[in-house]
Amino acid sequence: GATIGILGGGQLGRMLSVAASRLGFRTHIFEPGANPPAGDVAHVVTTAAYEDEVALRAFANGVDIITYEFENIPTSALDILEALKPARPDRVALRVSQDRLVEKAFLTDLGLKTAPFAAIDDAVDLAEAMAEIGLPAILKTRRFGYDGKGQARINTPDHAEQALADMAGAPAIFEGFVDFSHEVSVIAARNAAGEVACYDPGENVHRDGILHTTTIPARLTASQRTDAVLLAAKILNKLNYIGVMGVELFVTPKGLIVNEIAPRVHNSGHWTQQGCAVDQFEQHIRAVAGWPLGDGSRYTDVVMENLIGDDMDRVPELAAEANTSLHLYGKSQAKPGRKMGHVNRVTRGGSHK
Ligand code: ATP
Ligand code: MG
Ligand code: MG
Repeated sequence: GATIGILGGGQLGRMLSVAASRLGFRTHIFEPGANPPAGDVAHVVTTAAYEDEVALRAFANGVDIITYEFENIPTSALDILEALKPARPDRVALRVSQDRLVEKAFLTDLGLKTAPFAAIDDAVDLAEAMAEIGLPAILKTRRFGYDGKGQARINTPDHAEQALADMAGAPAIFEGFVDFSHEVSVIAARNAAGEVACYDPGENVHRDGILHTTTIPARLTASQRTDAVLLAAKILNKLNYIGVMGVELFVTPKGLIVNEIAPRVHNSGHWTQQGCAVDQFEQHIRAVAGWPLGDGSRYTDVVMENLIGDDMDRVPELAAEANTSLHLYGKSQAKPGRKMGHVNRVTRGGSHK
């Protein structure tokens, strides 16, 4: 079988490697951090930095296709890798999703709704944005933010000054606060033949900026569900995308608003491991390997709950729960806010007694 190279060795890389090996592929991981979770199940080729050209070349030469579990790969690294082996999804998807400003411009050009936004480089930009878009709002770093890090809610003009100071000169984006009733996401896949398949949207609840639960099915009307799937397909088609993407949406009385896209398998898609014949990890591997997409129909209701930090203390009781599938990432240290694992609880049709 072919060898798939994965940039990033976190839990997503680990679960991608498991799925790849079930289909007969080998996986190589490029991960600058020590002891990556994917290292238990895949071959870690290097712990070099993304700036190490020699290591990048050696990695690319050892694999047939390159994919990633992490979207903040420096473009300089992709230049080197893509010259040697195909990268899927390609750099267009990365470029769009690495920068919240580029991402929002792309989405609005497609005719999709986003929060009102403005680029913020200094106090003058911020004053203008507050006058035009108004408060409350959220100031976010344009790049490298995740799990709600690098963002601040602004309720009053004095908050704004502090929030800008906290950005420490990093380019930022100001977003009007969307008054949503709930959040959902669509996990969508597209392969080289242009086939698109979307999983049933899930409803997401965050705690302290980190995804806490995803519940399937989401509270959506039939027409909202159709909208969600069609807009996700529009995004993937426009990008000529190959692989799985997570599309995060706000549900409002005025329709669905796109929050952000993630060009990779997504935490809110972990429920597919117990909810579908082909989960998001296998679907991604199929897409990047040039296979037909698999059947992602949902055959049970699922609630996915993330295990964060010392939620790990609950593992003995979780392991004894009925209808519950436990997924642990093999991370040694439970730091506050660190994703250590998740459980999928199947709530209908999943009990085989
Ligand atoms: P992730 O871990 O999903 O990558 P992130 O750090 O990239 O998160 P966002 O998804 O942009 O951050 O925001 C995190 C959460 O903050 C959202 O899921 C939503 O609950 C809230 N939020 C973000 N932007 C807005 C907005 N414009 N209006 C209202 N709430 C928002
Ligand atoms: Mg994000
Ligand atoms: Mg998000």
